[in-house]
Amino acid sequence: MPVANPEHRLIARSVLTEVWVCRKCYARNPKNARRCRKKRCRSTNLRPKRKD
Ligand SMILES: [Zn+2]
Repeated sequence: MPVANPEHRLIARSVLTEVWVCRKCYARNPKNARRCRKKRCRSTNLRPKRKD
């Protein structure tokens, strides 16, 4: 669903891109995460998710 309002699009973009992705289970984690949020994983092997 496209976001019409440019301000909202900026926010949506940052929410979608400013996350860490676990290299082990591919869960998305908050930007301030030090390790994976999944209980079974808890890996510190995270990579930043970047769209461009
Ligand atoms: Zn994980």
